[in-house]
Amino acid sequence: MNPILPGAVIGVLGSGQLGRMFAIAARRMGYRVHTFSPDEDTPTGQVADREIVASYADLDRVKEFARSVSAVTFEFENVPAATAAACAECGPVRPAGSVLHTTQQRIREKTFLRQNGLPHANFRIIRDEADLAGLTGILKTADFGYDGKGQARVTNADHAIAAWNSIGRVEAVFEEFVDFESELSVVAVRNEKGDFAHYGAVENRHVNGILDLTIAPASIPAAKANEAVEIARTVLEALDVVGVLCVEFFYTEQGNLLINELAPRPHNSGHFTFDASVTSQFEQQLRAVCSLPLGSTDLMIPAAAMVNLLGDVWKNGEPNWSAALADPSVKLHLYGKLAPRKGRKMGHITALGANPADAARRAVEARNRLAIR
Ligand code: AMP
Repeated sequence: MNPILPGAVIGVLGSGQLGRMFAIAARRMGYRVHTFSPDEDTPTGQVADREIVASYADLDRVKEFARSVSAVTFEFENVPAATAAACAECGPVRPAGSVLHTTQQRIREKTFLRQNGLPHANFRIIRDEADLAGLTGILKTADFGYDGKGQARVTNADHAIAAWNSIGRVEAVFEEFVDFESELSVVAVRNEKGDFAHYGAVENRHVNGILDLTIAPASIPAAKANEAVEIARTVLEALDVVGVLCVEFFYTEQGNLLINELAPRPHNSGHFTFDASVTSQFEQQLRAVCSLPLGSTDLMIPAAAMVNLLGDVWKNGEPNWSAALADPSVKLHLYGKLAPRKGRKMGHITALGANPADAARRAVEARNRLAIR
């Protein structure tokens, strides 16, 4: 395909913070952005040229949107298949609907991993009570469920049925518990020509199933980091991804890498790239969508860390932004969301550092300073 050049309009399905940061990257390069979602005054809509407010099920409006842009991309993977298909009738959708189809449902995603010989935690598909017999581990609804929602831990096999009841007796996968030493991810990008770029392995720490802290680069042996990157390359090639995709891993105590899940879009664990890398994950998404050459993924400093700012940070009133910014290596990102609900991702802080531990310390300390009265 001929490149889609600056001045063209790119359409984003979805209107959250990922779309917002994509739109910022796209507008910086002279593109226009239209966003489509059921909501108004959204994180993406606030920085886009046009915010279209309609239901994903309103396929006439979806097609009208798709016809008004040169290419459609998305910022969350739960875009209904019919919506992606309606866009594809009108022009390029990147990544393609087939990538969404595989990665938006756990049974299909895990089956893809199994069929491609990609390492993952053992699992069993659950469709009725008999499938649950004798199992302990983590029960996860087949339909995502993000940030640990739609999951139940089963430590005693006698409680498996109760756990299935608690997630609504829907189709699910039962995954074995992984004793992991750490969680890692690789954000990678591929364009139409098959060029591949990646941001290396980073370490992620979660709190209550939600990403809390990312540290780049991950402090693991170089051979393991390379292995994670090669697994990511296999995933992007096997799925024929055009765009950014994040592979999340468990790194086990035995030093094995197991894929936890795939996200076919820029990812929370790649937010540090906005401030720390030559080309951010959002600009890479744009370049891939537009058939442009990919940019350098080099870190411009030795290390970076990112901490999320959830709505909880507002519990005692407006956070102390100046206190957080007292460290000049700290960058603040807020997503323009109106209501700081508990657990809601409202923004993040990136800190640059001399080494991974230094960056992580600076990011965490900056967030702690938000509470200074
Ligand atoms: P998920 O939504 O599947 O990414 O799960 C959210 C978090 O739950 C992960 O980041 C892990 O911290 C934890 N988790 C998920 N699956 C497992 C597993 N099989 N073994 C141990 N911890 C898990």
